[in-house]
Parts: sequence; structure tokens; C-alpha cells
Amino acid sequence: MSSNIVFLMYHELEQAGRGLCQADPGYVRYAVKASDFELQMRQLSSDGWRVVNVTEALAFPPVRSVALTFDDGSETDLLIAAPILHKLGFGATFFITTGFLNSRGYLSTSQLRDLSQTGFEIGSHSMSHPYLADLDNVALEREMLESKTRLEDILAVPVAHFSCPGGRYDHRVKSLARRFGYRTVSTSRSHANSRSTDVYELGRAVIMRDTNMHSFERICANRGLWRLRGAEIARSLAKRALGNSSYDKLRAAVLGAPPSSKQSHR
Ligand SMILES: [Zn+2]
Repeated sequence: MSSNIVFLMYHELEQAGRGLCQADPGYVRYAVKASDFELQMRQLSSDGWRVVNVTEALAFPPVRSVALTFDDGSETDLLIAAPILHKLGFGATFFITTGFLNSRGYLSTSQLRDLSQTGFEIGSHSMSHPYLADLDNVALEREMLESKTRLEDILAVPVAHFSCPGGRYDHRVKSLARRFGYRTVSTSRSHANSRSTDVYELGRAVIMRDTNMHSFERICANRGLWRLRGAEIARSLAKRALGNSSYDKLRAAVLGAPPSSKQSHR
């Protein structure tokens, strides 16, 4: 029945009284409020959805399912998302930027172990969160391989999935992923996945701070992903015209924040 599965993409969750890892508007618009996240998950549960991790999704379960993914490795993965998901019996894959581990607002090594031992799937989101397409071959190999090795050292389980920081990637990412023993690569391209989708180029639909319940339900049901795609095409045209770092400066200017020297944490 479920020949197409939508993979949802979340980032840090926001809880009153707890500061986000970053304050710039370009980051904050990806931080879904904890209360909204909980409502979204309860809605899926009451509508009878099965919510699964990447590995389970790729078995294309016979019941109506969505896959849940989180990028970056904020500590809200464990503190906010995990308890809600656990209570509802939902699975998820958490993609971790290994270089952020143990820094303020992100998971510590022992929290990451807890997340894994609770039964959630852990994937790699690179070492330092660069735009992969901008890297030379040596740097790209390090980002993809060392993050995997580090996670496997910490967790003592194989790490089979990778997601691209900022959603950006090129043909090298696919072939290196295969060579390094990853089974999948998740991008930020807004499309559902089917048995015929290239597993090294899986689509995901981003859930943002301002995604309302109506849009959320449409996205899960694989309706209206073209709306997200329209925004994505506009972004990628701007990026292509300007190059990634100029694009970031422009985006920061448009959003009213000073240009940041930090890479985008998405
Ligand atoms: Zn990211």
C-alpha cells in the first residue's frame, strides 16, 4: 500500500526557557517549538500512521508510514523528541554532526549513547557541517568517513546512514558513501521516496517553525511537496548565481542578521 514514503526532516526543537544553539533568524526558522512537535506527533498517532526510522522505511512497510529524521545532534533530540516518540512507540533516525558533540546545546557523548540505547537509529551528518560540494576530495573523504568511524567507536554499532549538511551534495558524495559502507544518503530535496528512488539520494520534507498542522498533514500524505520544492528551486537558483558563501551573506542580510562566519547548521 505504501509505495511512497515521505521522510520528514527536523532540527533542534525549542522549549521555553532553553536557548537555541544559534540565534540567527536563518537558524531559528528551522527550530520547531516542542509543543508544536508534540501536537504533530500526536496527530500522526491518532490518524493511525506508523512512524519509522530510515532503515525501517526502506523496507516499505505495508501500513501507511512516514519516516522521521533529525539533523545536527542538538541535545533536544534526547531531552524533548525522544520521550515524546518513545511514549507513542515511534522510531526515528538522528543524524549527528560529530564535531558538535559535547559543545553547548548539543548532545554529549553519553547522551548520544543513551539515545542509541533507547532504540533510536543514529546516522552521520558529517564532522564539521560544511557544504560538501565546496570541499576538495581529501576534506570530503574526512568529513564522511571520520564522522562514521567516530560514531561507531562511541556506539559500538554500525552507522549506515548519512545526511548532507545544508542539503548540498554532488556526485562524489554518492560514490564515497557507497565506498565507505553507508547504505543511504538523505538530502533536503522535497520528494517522497519509493522503491525506485536512488537510496544515495533520498528526498526529505523539511518541517519548519511556521509549518502549520494543515501543511504538516498534507506533507505526510505526500501532497503539496511541490510547494516546498518551489521554495527549494528559488534557493538553489540564488545559490548557483552567487556561490554558497555569498548566498549565506545575502540570506543573512535579507533575514536581517549580520553575515555570519559560521556555516549554516542545517
Ligand atoms: Zn545540518
